[in-house]
This record gives sequence, structure tokens and C-alpha cells, in this order.
Amino acid sequence: MTHGREVLVEVNNLSVEFQTTEGVLRAVTGLSYTVSQGETVAILGESGSGKSVSIEALMGIIDPPNGRITSGEIRFRGTNLLTMPTTLRHRINGEHIAMIFQDALAALNPSQTVGKQIGEMFTLHRGIRHREAFQYAIELMNRVRIPAAAKRAHCYPHEFSGGMRQRIMIATAIALEPEVLIADEPTTALDVTVQSQIMDLLTELRTERNMGLVLISHDLGVVADVADRVLVMYAGQIMECGPLREVYRTPSHPYTIGLLNSIPNNQSTQERLQPIKGLPPSPVAIPPGCPFHPRCPSAIELCHRVLPSLEKLPGTNRASACHRKHEVLDNAG
Ligand code: SF4
Repeated sequence: MTHGREVLVEVNNLSVEFQTTEGVLRAVTGLSYTVSQGETVAILGESGSGKSVSIEALMGIIDPPNGRITSGEIRFRGTNLLTMPTTLRHRINGEHIAMIFQDALAALNPSQTVGKQIGEMFTLHRGIRHREAFQYAIELMNRVRIPAAAKRAHCYPHEFSGGMRQRIMIATAIALEPEVLIADEPTTALDVTVQSQIMDLLTELRTERNMGLVLISHDLGVVADVADRVLVMYAGQIMECGPLREVYRTPSHPYTIGLLNSIPNNQSTQERLQPIKGLPPSPVAIPPGCPFHPRCPSAIELCHRVLPSLEKLPGTNRASACHRKHEVLDNAG
């Protein structure tokens, strides 16, 4: 239990690798986190930081033989999904843990009406007849605030705007009343107003259904108002984690500071934007020591040689993987 809320997902020491022509790609290393009922956890980082692969592992969609989970466990309500029979695993991932994707147009079937697609969740998983399932689909479309739902349930995905398509994806994902909902960059292609409407809707549904919500994003601004806790990932590892307000107010890792300084709305003028210099490392050639050291303005000699472990900050619920975390924190405070 976390603050009286039941822990739904527990990831312990998860590592995922891919065999590529360039060598072994270490996508995720030693990842641990939990998601509780009614809680929103944001997994943040630049492209290639391992955030999406960590979720693919949770959803059971790492493809062997090239991709494999080399260590760790993923527990749902205490049971390790990684040792569970495949059919049971698919049931958990289909019904109890659901996911919405970044590109709704690619995820939806272009040749089927949206009412039929949403309704299929009920026909396939609950054995409900098509006519009744279509009515449930309309109810869900109403719930996610698609105007004129009864009429628009007969339309095809391309007849909707990007924001409305994302709402259709959300309706499909919540159809079976999952306990955990994962949203991978759910608002990337949308304008700022629609972004915040979708985030509000996700938060509302999380509260109404007491779901655990996991948001994957490269944009710290998008999750700023909605997440309870954040994990900041870089080169497949957690750099910093903790309650969102505390991490944003007083970051204890230079990478978090760099990401925060890259948020346009976080600055009074565009001129003050300070994107992080350089690029993330290739996952087949992660540098020794701290993986962030080639880009870090605070790096010291130790950082080039020794990998900092993720350590708790005394007296807090936060942790940081930085040799200079206390100085960074003092400077931020
Ligand atoms: Fe920068 Fe060193 Fe901290 Fe890494 S360990 S973030 S290189 S100061």
C-alpha cells in the first residue's frame, strides 16, 4: 500500500536488451518503480532514454529472440507477469492493464467504424452481441465527450480530428475497466489546448475509476499539472525520481535541470531557453561512469569513471543517481 492505496504494478530491477547488428543494445538497466491505485506516474526522458521499452516490457510486447528481458520482475497485484503462462499474461494485459498509443490513426483500423472498433472490446472479451456492444461503444464515446456520439459512432477514424481520435483510443482502452492505464506520448501530435483537454480527461478517468495511470513523455511541461510522481530516465536508467512537485521545484540531478530548462513555458522569454547540449548516447555505446557525463555541466573526474547508484535523499521520498546530488540540490533550493 502507498498512502493507503494498493500497489498495482511493481517493477523490480528490470533490464531489457536487444541484439542488433551493431552489438548488444542496453535499452533498460535496473529499473524499479511502483504504480498504485489512483496515482499518476510520469516516466520522462528524451527519445531513446528507454521509457517506451520499459512500458513494452510491462505490456509483454518485447519481441524475442532479438529483444529479451535479462533480469528483474514485473508484478501485477503481487504476481510476477514474467513467469506467468502466456494466455494468462495476455488476459492481464488485455483486460487489467490497457494502453493508448501516440499515433491514434495508426492504432485504429481505418476500414471499420469507430463504434464497431470500440464495441469489439465487448464482443471479443465479454461475448456481448454486436448490437448491444455498439450501444456500449456509444456510451463510452459520450463519456470521453465525443459530440453527437450516436451519429459519429458510424464514422471512420479518418473522419475525426487528431484530438477526437485520441478520445476514441481512450474509450477503447477503458472499455474493459482496466486497473492500470498506460499512455505513451498521448498528446504529442496535438495542439496545446487539445493537449491539456486530453490530460484533463485522463486525470478525470483515473480519479473516477481509481486507476493507476502511467504517462510516458519527453515533455516535462505536459505532465506538470497531472502527475503525482516522476521517473526521469536517461540511457535506460533512472536518473532521478520522486514526487513531481519536489523534483520540479528542487531538482537533484543535472539532467532533470536540463530538461526543465528546455520547457518553453517554464521561461519568461524564449531567449532564456537552454536546451541540453549534445545528444543522448547510442544505447550500444553507453559511456563508462555516469552516462550523462559527456553532456553534464557539473561533471567531475569521478563521473567519467564511476557509475553513480540511485540513492535516496535523506528525509525524502526522492532518489538521485548523481555523485554531486547534494550540491545540485543545495543550488536548486
Ligand atoms: Fe553530472 Fe557527474 Fe552527476 Fe553525472 S554524476 S549527472 S556527470 S555531476
